[in-house]
This record gives sequence, structure tokens and C-alpha cells, in this order.
Amino acid sequence: MNPPTNRVRVVLLTQAIGPLDYRLPAGMEAGPGCVVMVPLGPRKLPGVIWDDDVFGDEAVDASKLRPVLELVDCPPLGQGLRRLVNWVADYYLTSHAAVLRMVLSSSAAFTVSGTIIEYRRTGFEPARLTPQRAAALDALEGAQGLVRELAAEAGVSDAVIRGLIKAGAFEPVTISVDSPLPEPIADFGAPKLNDAQMVAADAMVAAVRSGGFDTFVLDGVTGSGKTETYFEAVAEAIRLGKQVLVLLPEIALTAPFLARFEARFGVEPAVWHSNLRSTQRRRVWRAVADGSAQVLVGARSALFLPFANLRLIIVDEAHESSFKQEDGVRYHARDVAVMRGRFEGFPVVLASATPALESRHMVTIGRYKGLEIPSRFGAAKMPEIKAIDLTLDAPERQHWIAPTLLKALEERVERGEQSLLFLNRRGFAPLTLCRTCGHRFQCPNCTSWMVEHRLVRRLACHHCGHVMPPPDECPECGESDTLVACGPGVERICDEVNRLLPDARTIVATSDTLWSPEKAAEFVSRVENKAVDIIIGTQLVTKGYHFPELTLVGVIDADLGLEGGDLRAAERTFQQIAQAAGRAGRGEKPGEVFIQTRNPNHPVIAALVAGDRDAFYDAETEQRKSAGAPPFGRFAAIIISSEDEREAIEAARAVGGAAPQVDGMYVYGPAPAPLAMLRGRYRQRLLVHAQRSVEVQTIIREWLGSLHFPRGVRVGVDVDPYSFL
Ligand code: ADP
Ligand code: ZN
Ligand code: ZN
Repeated sequence: MNPPTNRVRVVLLTQAIGPLDYRLPAGMEAGPGCVVMVPLGPRKLPGVIWDDDVFGDEAVDASKLRPVLELVDCPPLGQGLRRLVNWVADYYLTSHAAVLRMVLSSSAAFTVSGTIIEYRRTGFEPARLTPQRAAALDALEGAQGLVRELAAEAGVSDAVIRGLIKAGAFEPVTISVDSPLPEPIADFGAPKLNDAQMVAADAMVAAVRSGGFDTFVLDGVTGSGKTETYFEAVAEAIRLGKQVLVLLPEIALTAPFLARFEARFGVEPAVWHSNLRSTQRRRVWRAVADGSAQVLVGARSALFLPFANLRLIIVDEAHESSFKQEDGVRYHARDVAVMRGRFEGFPVVLASATPALESRHMVTIGRYKGLEIPSRFGAAKMPEIKAIDLTLDAPERQHWIAPTLLKALEERVERGEQSLLFLNRRGFAPLTLCRTCGHRFQCPNCTSWMVEHRLVRRLACHHCGHVMPPPDECPECGESDTLVACGPGVERICDEVNRLLPDARTIVATSDTLWSPEKAAEFVSRVENKAVDIIIGTQLVTKGYHFPELTLVGVIDADLGLEGGDLRAAERTFQQIAQAAGRAGRGEKPGEVFIQTRNPNHPVIAALVAGDRDAFYDAETEQRKSAGAPPFGRFAAIIISSEDEREAIEAARAVGGAAPQVDGMYVYGPAPAPLAMLRGRYRQRLLVHAQRSVEVQTIIREWLGSLHFPRGVRVGVDVDPYSFL
């Protein structure tokens, strides 16, 4: 029997429910991709009509079908995007609902229309202020938003904000939610490219013009002008009236990036990140969906937006591991970007000075096209890189800067040049212990140490965010004044610099200090205006920044990243140090880089000092090959957690016991995860290692699907894992 044509299958955005069938009422015309409101029990929920052939048949009698309530006024999701959603759900073993929630990521886009009222401060202060009101006024200086948003930002209840509105401290502002976005101008500030840039740009421009899927690895040394080069491809898409998505890894990157974009295209691009207000989200979402937002610069979640006519995705700093999402849907934005290009038929550019080994391998086997810019732009030369052997050239006790590096810093300060000290550790000290009894401060919710943040006088867990004031006495032995900080974080290095070079003006640059686009912009302008001599920063400052007066980079502890020993430890360390080194000597003055290490002969350090990237990558690739590791084989992790330790262990044993025997696939574990407790949940892991030919996803889906777990147990799968914690 043929299904009646007015039956539609709808994916609801609620993860717990699979797709459901509904009936299109007479007069409503809708097909796959349409966003609809449907009834579920007494509720009315959003969903998307999906292609019939994706899910198995459901034998619900036509007469029992409830009707679709409403067709939402927005363009239907295109076929390419629907295929992408199918692919992501299949590949990363998640539900369509979870992926669609990222696509329809602005609820305001469907529910609100016309104008909306936001509030902002008037400058008037009511005479009598409760502490809460005073705090809210303080926190909301310069802010604007809905009552709910302002309340959340200030950490007070809605009622406090409403009270302040009544008292005249806030005034309403009427916002038209759909005012158009400014249009970029393709040839506004086009630079003259050098020959190598031109060759790379021409290839990308041609691909944009002809359309069709292709993947480029734009591999240019730090300071080679990759941005200017791929901007040519962006310009071509603008000329064609098509859309472009530029994915950036960190929010901090956007401030200088937006300025550069504006210099090149005359206007700021539309942006997408998690800190947008709901009206901004709505405006951008709709402009992306109707095609009027021509260029969108965004964090990884922008990848799932429903572009009307996307013609190009650029993934900048494509080697960055922050493109891998570690919670919710565990996807890798770089890989999903390539798939989106494939399904929708347009080129994708992966730009980096240190491409991921996987990307480089794809160039080697001819699947991706390599574009190289081998030297820095203009007169700038690559910096000279030297290792400092800490066993020979040792810092003083309880110090971390070797004499050679200290001298180099001193010279820079005298010459009025800038330096960067790189240490990938936030806070003052990674571990605090009691001198008397040896007690170590551990997070109550996680298997991790509490990290001292001296600037804000807190101990903090970097895994769950738990914070506490540093106690005056040891909770174990009760002695007072016995806490000692062990090891350095950036704040401690900053202390050391301030003591040893009291005239130097320092700044700590981490996600703790540069937590908003405004803070990042302020940091950039302070460095550019030469109000800073020495930057002490984590990997946050190793990307994207261009400070011409910065001539010295010191890597405080090159061995740190190699200790973990996971699959990508060597590659990641190489990339981080190469990127940090890449901040030196980007202007006319030559750069110098010192790498502090106890192991100068380690292949990573040796390759960096010799400037021999290819030798390092080749050796690393060989190792991966012989180990059957990605890209030659694949991994998937299964993470089982529960608040009850026994329950977690038993569930993990059940998973392990049910592991299928498959040729070319090995299952390791279960074992307690290195991060054995996280946010109060006990964690067990299994690792699946398989040859590329094995259909890991299908196997795991059937394997886990055959098991039943107690309510308190969560089972997550991480396909192509980057974190092994
Ligand atoms: P990368 O991203 O490869 O590290 P950038 O794109 O930051 O390099 O370029 C380094 C610097 O050189 C920037 O200040 C950039 O504006 C400048 N630059 C690069 N190419 C050109 C060009 N063709 N004309 C003018 N300036 C350029
Ligand atoms: Zn003690
Ligand atoms: Zn914690």
C-alpha cells in the first residue's frame, strides 16, 4: 500500500524522541527541509520535515496521524545540508535531533518577528540602592539586551532588572530584528600579492568561480600572508553574489581579524559565536538563511547554519584541536567542513602554517590540493630558533627562566622591542600542597588538582570550574601558612619577570584575562601601542596575532606537552612551538626564539631547531603508519559514566563483555579513564582501534544498541578522538 502523500516524517528537536509521522493538513504545502511546529502530547514543538528514505518504515495507521500545526516562515533546509545532518548523525553516532539543534540554533529566528525591546542604562542612579541593584548597575555599564539577558549577565534575578527599569535606571530601545547587514565590497582594499601568494590565490579563485567540490590545504609559513591570500577567494565569492563562511578557532582571534576584514572589504563581516545576544543570533541566522549575509566569520558551531548559497568555507588555523567539539555532539569542524563542501559542491580551504598530519597526508595521496607559500611576506625573515638545555643552563632555584633567555629579554627591553614568553598553563601554579603534611588540593568533583589563580585569589578546577578561596590553614593537618605552590603557570612566570626585570611592563594573556572580544581588542591595542614589553601567554596568543615589534619568543617548557604521551603529543607540541615561534620577527627586525628543554635531542625539538618540518612530519607519519594510527587506522572511544562508581564499572564491563569479534578491530579496556572522575561522575573508557576498512560506526551502533543500561549511566562515543582523558 502506498503511503498517503500527505504523510510527512518529522525530526523533532528533542533528542529523546525519534522521528515521528504527522499529517499535512489540507492547504499546507511542505516538503523535506521545511521547519514546522507539531503537537506532541499537550505540547507544541519545533521539528523539520525529513526525507522519507532516511529512517526505516513506521507502521502508524494514517488515521491516527496528528496534523502539522504550523509551517514556520523561513527557507527550508537545502538538500545538501540535510545530507550533512544525516552524515554527521551517522558518522559521530549521534541523533538527527542533536545535529538539527545546531542547525536551528536560534529559537528566536522562528518565534519572534518585527521589532523587539531591549534595555540599556540611562546613567541615572536611583537614590536608594540594594547591594544587588548596585552590583547590577555596575556589571551592566554599556550593556544592552533583553531583561533575561541582562539579568544573566549581572548574575541577578529578572526582578532586580525590572525594578531598575521602573526606577528609571534603564531605558527601552526598540530594535528592528531584521535590519539588513552591511555588504562587503570585493575590491575595497585589495593588496598587491607577491608571486607565491598570487599562485595560491589564483587556484582558490578559480575553484570558487567554477564551483564544485575541492579541498585545498593552504600551507604557508607564519607571516606569509595566508589571510590576504584567501581573502582573494572570499572576494570572488562576493563578486558572484555567493556566501562564504570563515571558521576561526578562538573568540580572541576575532578582534584583530575583524579589523583586517574591514580594511580589506570595507565593512565588518557578520559574526557567529556563543556570546551573541538572542536578537543578534536571530538577525544573523535569518540573514544567513536568506542569503543576505555574504560573509560570516564564526566559531565551529557556525558550520551548521542553513546558508542559502554557500560557495566557500575557509577553516583558518585548521590544525587547531579546538575545532574538535568535546561535549554534546563530538564532531571535528575541519572534517565536517570538508563534508559540507562535498555535499553542497563548493571548495573548502584549510589554512595553516602547521597543517594537521592527517591533512598533509591527504595532499600526499592526492585527495586534497596543496598550496604553498614558502616564505614570509615582504622583508620579514623566519626567526632563528635555538634550544636552551635546562640541565646545562639552569635557572636559579624556584625560577624558570634560564640565564640565556633572561639576558635576551633584558636586551629587548633595553632596545624597546617586545617579547613573548609562552607557557601553556593558566594560573599561578598547577599544584598546591601543604608543606607540613603533604596534602594536595584536589577538586572534589574531578580527578584533578586545584590550580592556583593568584590574580583573583582563587583555587580553580580547570575541568569543571569549581572554585574556592585559598584556605588559610591546611584542611588535613590544620597548620596555618603552610601552603606551597608547585611548578609554574603564566602568572608565576610573570611574577618572576617582574622581580628580575622590574622596569619591564608585562601582561598575562590567557583565556582568564582575554575572555571577551573587548578584552582581546584591548590587549591588541596595548601591545600595538607599545605599552607592553613582555607578554606572558598560553597558546591563546600563539595564533593569528601580528605584532611587528615582537622580536623574541621564549618557550618556557617545551617538554610539557610531550609528557602526556597520547597519539598526537609530538605533533601538537611541534605545532604549538612552531606557532609560538611564528610570532617572532614578523616585521622588519629579525626574530629570535629560545626553546627551554631538558631534552634537546628529542625529534620535535631537533626538527624545530633545524627548521626541518618535513623531516619531522615524515618520521611522525611513518610512526603512525606502523602503529596503524590515524590517518592509517581509526580510533573510537566509548566513555561510560555514572555518579555511582560501581554502576559505572559494571556498565563498562557489560560493554566490554559484549564487544563483537571483528577482523581488523581491537577493543582495549574497559579501564578507569585518566580523568577517572569528572563533574562528580565516575568514568570508564574503552578504546576501539580498527583498520580503515572496518565499518566502525555500524558495529558500535549495533553493539551498544543491544545493551540496556541503568538510568544513571551515560554512554558516549567519541569517533576520531583527540582527547584521551
Ligand atoms: P599568516 O596568517 O600567514 O601568518 P598574515 O596574513 O598575518 O600571515 O600576514 C602577515 C602580515 O603581512 C600582515 O600584516 C599582512 O597584512 C601582511 N601582508 C601579507 N601579504 C600582504 C600583501 N600582499 N600586501 C600587503 N601586506 C601583506
Ligand atoms: Zn597539612
Ligand atoms: Zn573539577
